[in-house]
Amino acid sequence: MTDVINPADGTVLTSVPSLGLAETDAAIESAQRAFAGWRQVAPGDRARLLRRFAALVDAHLDELAGLEVRNAGHTVGNARWEAGNVRDVLDYYAGAPERLTGRQIPVAGGLDVTFHEPLGVVGIIVPWNFPMPIAGWGFAPALAAGNTVVLKPAELTPLTAIRLGELGREAGLPDGVFTVLPGKGSVVGQRFVTHPAVRKVCFTGSTQVGKSIMAGCADQVKRVTLELGGKSANIVFADADLERAAASAPASVFDNAGQDCCARSRLLVQDSVYDRFLALLEPAVKAFRVLDPVSPDAEMGPLISAGQRSSVAGYVEGADVAFTGSAPDGDGWWFPPTVLLARSTADRHWREEVFGPVLSVLPFRDEQDAVRLANDTAYGLSGSIWTRDLGRALRMSCAVESGNLSVNSHSSVRYWTPFGGMKESGLGRELGPDALLSFTDTKNVFLADS
Ligand code: NDP
Repeated sequence: MTDVINPADGTVLTSVPSLGLAETDAAIESAQRAFAGWRQVAPGDRARLLRRFAALVDAHLDELAGLEVRNAGHTVGNARWEAGNVRDVLDYYAGAPERLTGRQIPVAGGLDVTFHEPLGVVGIIVPWNFPMPIAGWGFAPALAAGNTVVLKPAELTPLTAIRLGELGREAGLPDGVFTVLPGKGSVVGQRFVTHPAVRKVCFTGSTQVGKSIMAGCADQVKRVTLELGGKSANIVFADADLERAAASAPASVFDNAGQDCCARSRLLVQDSVYDRFLALLEPAVKAFRVLDPVSPDAEMGPLISAGQRSSVAGYVEGADVAFTGSAPDGDGWWFPPTVLLARSTADRHWREEVFGPVLSVLPFRDEQDAVRLANDTAYGLSGSIWTRDLGRALRMSCAVESGNLSVNSHSSVRYWTPFGGMKESGLGRELGPDALLSFTDTKNVFLADS
């Protein structure tokens, strides 16, 4: 059994089983047996089951959000959005089984038709920073395409995934179609990589573990989707609406206490407005409300663990602190929003993913300099460009090497649009209409006309 801790006060909430190899194998084999029946369920019936699942998530939205507030320290506003996102993603992909159409391609001597076949068992490995949405982005399209799913939540945050598994069964998903397996990454997660019945692994987490998953999957030519780290740039040009950009900057990096792969943790400001922008940013950072996450006013809660807090503190030690916000005293893993002035691009806090509420700032000269600095990273997940010049917005959008960009906004995730990273931020895309096909193999069948 593993204790589950409330990061806002350090108390033990409950404990959950930590499954071993034999139990993991049994669950994978049960998912393999269930696949034969699930892929045969008529598309309309599969769609109805997913819609029923979505409706149950909606009916339990407050309960799921409450679990996430306690287990992950997410603010209640964020946790409600996250449970709603699972519902919406299920609803979105519930439209897919009846639209999973192939093509007919005219060829000499007959006709070629393509089918999109489900893969089999899909293994989903979820991190602790967004336990609900990341689970849903994997299991909803995987199930819609006719696969069965085994899902491993992070050891630190298993509660909402376990509840979602129960709601799936209550919705009528047959036994073995969607199974949540709490346990260690090195045991349960690793078995998804090595068990031959698992035909695809969706992994979200650190780049380091992602690389080992990719290498492991190569052994069985297993399909893999990787959503990994980020060090995204928030680029503010002198011609931007500086007030709006400064008002938006704190949430773009401190949301979820900065434990967000999309966090805009590098702020690049054009040198001619650098001082003015920092003067606008300081009151916005100081006003960012770091409170007990159950409070409806909270904009940020605690970090996930003592270990995460000491890792974040290590990046701030010895750095040039421009200003900080506030955080509650007392129990729990609290850390205030912190803005650091980078001395150069060699600073560790500028280069590495901090995964905490820390923003690093650097000025740039011109467009070319901004592109050079933004791309000077191994990562390429998200980013924002603030300018009133449409031509510049287009040029920058082409030049910045990042899978998700926003102009005059800091939004990254919309379930209608593809989400994923370039460079070491990942492989493959989740969400949007095309994600469904990544849970299928396309087969072409030639029908001779004589
Ligand atoms: P980890 O990579 O350590 O863990 C992620 C998940 O993988 C957990 O469920 C973990 O299990 C499991 N795991 C760990 N080791 C293995 C293994 N050898 N084989 C199979 N599974 C394994 O990352 P964190 O949970 O610490 O998350 C933080 C990192 O993840 C950050 O770098 C962040 O940027 C990145 N991330 C990226 C996201 C994206 O969308 N691009 C989203 C969220 C996070 P266990 O809980 O037992 O350790």
